[in-house]
Amino acid sequence: MDQNKNKNVPIHLGEFREEALEKEFYNAEIAKNLKEVKFTIFVVGMIYFLFIIPEYFILKDVNDFIAVLICRSVIAALLIFLYFKVSRDKKYDSLIYWFTAYEVIISLSFIYISNKFSDPDFMIQAFSVMIIILAIFLINNRWLYSIFTSLFISIGYFAFAALSFKNISSSDFLAAIFHIMLVIIISSSASYSFNYFKRIQYLNNVELIRMAEHDPLTGIYNKGKFNKEYARLADHGEQKNAHLSIAMFDIDDFKAINDHYGHLTGDAVLVDLTGLIGKHIRNSDLFIRWGGEEFVLTFPDTSLLQATEITEKLRVLISEHTFEIIGHLSCSFGVASYKKGDDLDSVIRRADERLYRAKRSGKNKVM
Ligand code: GH3
Ligand code: MG
Ligand code: MG
Repeated sequence: MDQNKNKNVPIHLGEFREEALEKEFYNAEIAKNLKEVKFTIFVVGMIYFLFIIPEYFILKDVNDFIAVLICRSVIAALLIFLYFKVSRDKKYDSLIYWFTAYEVIISLSFIYISNKFSDPDFMIQAFSVMIIILAIFLINNRWLYSIFTSLFISIGYFAFAALSFKNISSSDFLAAIFHIMLVIIISSSASYSFNYFKRIQYLNNVELIRMAEHDPLTGIYNKGKFNKEYARLADHGEQKNAHLSIAMFDIDDFKAINDHYGHLTGDAVLVDLTGLIGKHIRNSDLFIRWGGEEFVLTFPDTSLLQATEITEKLRVLISEHTFEIIGHLSCSFGVASYKKGDDLDSVIRRADERLYRAKRSGKNKVM
């Protein structure tokens, strides 16, 4: 039971198991936090570069100072480049590799600069390593990559320190290793929960949006989606050379079907009918369950004549389809198009009036 439960959690090692979903999440995440991401890059660049000020006073050798200045300037330039890359990009999933590469380069430059101090303090440098590790976990990278890069800088730094410091006491050395490992453990577990819950929240949001826009029975869009698209549809209709047509339709004598075969069969008919129509419309046509057994279709870039022809084909399609249990049924349709000076509501109203006329004049008709 428990094992099954674990299998169902779509998150593994701080990311979605499904690669496409992870990419989608990552792109949405960066897009949402673009300002913060850019701000972080900017601040990291500034802080990293400004260390040159104390170094100006500490580094005795001019050549060493120039080497450090060049190193810090190159990193600052790379970060400026990254800043503009993030601003320009439309897709962000490749940023993971950039971020990781930058973390490694900055770590290496830190070790290189550490080497320039004539009288370096091991503990102060160990503190700097901790700060770099905290910064690494702050950046939107893959959880595993953050662990790898923080291990990379710690091991790199300790190897360097073991080689270049002659008189660190072994208790200092062990204490530094212990504290840095603790920083990595605490940061990575905090980052794990953060990554985990962000993804759970993302899934919940996606589900919430899906529920707000879809009808639970048939799976097609509901009025909520229509209202959301209202402005875009109205805009489209009002454009000079664009057409927008709308068909409204309603199942004929559906009450009798319910009464005769039961509500559940009625439900199955609704599912079957929407599936049938869904297969015969374009992707750009919105198909909405308006309420009960009443539906709306929007046809962008379609004139009234074309929309009437399409709708007539759908009417024939439905009336010739054999539904399970109940056999045959029909629908009545009202079609309307945007005209000069129209608004979307009046187009809907006209389609509704025509649907009513189709019903009154014998049903199974397109008006
Ligand atoms: P008309 O040809 O004039 O449209 O007649 P009608 O019987 O289809 O119209 P009416 O509006 O009187 O009845 C619609 C019926 O649709 C009544 C309602 O119970 C049923 N209905 C609405 N929503 C659902 C649903 O989700 N499932 C089922 N099974 N029936 C539904
Ligand atoms: Mg009806
Ligand atoms: Mg009705």
